[in-house]
Amino acid sequence: MVLVTEKSADVVVVGAGVAGLVAARDLVRSGADVLVLEARDRVGGRLLNGELPGGATVELGGQWVGPGQDHVLRLIGELGLRTYPTHAEGEHIAEVGPSRSRYTGRIPRLNPLVLADIGQAQYRLDRLARRVAATDPWRAPGSGELDAQTFDTWLRRTAHTEGGRAFFRLVTEAVFSAGPEDMSALWAAFYVGAAGGIDRLINVVGGAQQDRVVGGTQVIALRLAEELGDRVVLDAPVTGIDWRTRGVQGAPGVRVTTRGGPEVRARRAVVAVPPPLAARIRFTPGLPGDRDQLVQRMPMGRVIKVNVAYEEPFWRDAGLSGQANSTHRALGTVLDNTPHGGSPGSLGSSGPPGVLVGFLEGRHADAGSRLDAAERRARVIDDLVGYFGPRARHPLAYIERDWAEEEYSRGCYGAFAVPGALTRFGPALRGPVGPLHWAGTETATRWAGYIDGAAESGHRVAKEILAALS
Ligand code: FAD
Repeated sequence: MVLVTEKSADVVVVGAGVAGLVAARDLVRSGADVLVLEARDRVGGRLLNGELPGGATVELGGQWVGPGQDHVLRLIGELGLRTYPTHAEGEHIAEVGPSRSRYTGRIPRLNPLVLADIGQAQYRLDRLARRVAATDPWRAPGSGELDAQTFDTWLRRTAHTEGGRAFFRLVTEAVFSAGPEDMSALWAAFYVGAAGGIDRLINVVGGAQQDRVVGGTQVIALRLAEELGDRVVLDAPVTGIDWRTRGVQGAPGVRVTTRGGPEVRARRAVVAVPPPLAARIRFTPGLPGDRDQLVQRMPMGRVIKVNVAYEEPFWRDAGLSGQANSTHRALGTVLDNTPHGGSPGSLGSSGPPGVLVGFLEGRHADAGSRLDAAERRARVIDDLVGYFGPRARHPLAYIERDWAEEEYSRGCYGAFAVPGALTRFGPALRGPVGPLHWAGTETATRWAGYIDGAAESGHRVAKEILAALS
């Protein structure tokens, strides 16, 4: 016979990613009794630290923060953590169509026609994005027309050269880990606007890739969990939420069941998991049609993230920054990911290790995941050799993470909305249902899809609950 532990709390939080942990911390600070149920045997969700052979930390999930990400930057400060700049000195490599160039600054050296095309399309996308993000996207002027088309359709009408279109495909894959044909043009415009424009999304200096967190970004979640102590319960995947029932002391509320963990009664529940995973929880009674229809239309992107360590950052000797992009390689985006403070000591060299991080995104992740591990590694290394020359052939360590294979993520960087989803069901993204409140980066109004958006959603949902309980 299996004995189920019964617990009670004012608020039960499902998911110990940044969103759930921030919500729990805010609620605890306001005097609420909170319990966080986490499916995995660790906290952090899409944030995960890995270890290089010498002991240095490298991020296998979300990692960069940048200007304008006020929520996460404040959190980092409050938790006593520090950031350091992503290595960006030297020349970057851009392969767009047949041309390959080395460049510094923001703008690659490309055929002037292609450059002009990219410039005008970016101008139009940024202008559109400002309009859409200034309100709930489903209420934006022209939202119906935008949501009736894929981002690919919009780009084909807006970018006129082959190089321009290839550039925006690369940008879409790098930003969303999905193709432009996968998502609604309204979602794409919202996402760009929520980040403050394309430059903010794709740049290192002045953009979302500008800084890293000392100790690896998962420390944000680890510190939050430390503060929460035994209020965080690991290995407790939530399987069901009964939301029209007796909560605590006979008052209306929720009863949350887990596989192998406790059963929890509470007055309110925060569901802080990505939309497709929220759809896998059995709600009793079933959720309103709008909410269910929405989550049926928000799949996750797909990415395999690869960190490759070398005895030293040899590309720097050649005057290269380690930043490389290609419209035709599977490893479309690469950056220098050498850890803070350099040497891990026992990597076999006296100098600092060099780490390159690369991403197989969208359709490249589909293809990559179907290869066996050795073949996938060989293809990734071939691309690194193509970018940086033969010294890339012999790494000291190769660490990859396929996020679609993770039972409790099922993809990354985040979910996106397919055509029609936002204009038909958008308000259901954040609107509470009885005692149920929705958090997670996908519900953010700024930097949706980022750690910053996760933190914003945690704060928002805590405020919602405190208002409801007062
Ligand atoms: P999650 O982190 O997904 O948290 C949800 C939690 O719920 C998880 O811990 C999960 O295990 C748990 N859970 C799921 N189902 C259940 C269940 N049934 N019961 C209980 N618990 C459950 N963002 C950036 O800002 N900068 C970056 O550079 C960046 N790069 C990225 C690179 C990769 C490879 C990935 C994967 C993500 C990246 N992101 C980046 C995105 C960022 O990591 C996420 O936006 C953020 O971590 C999401 O936090 P969250 O709390 O909303 O969701």
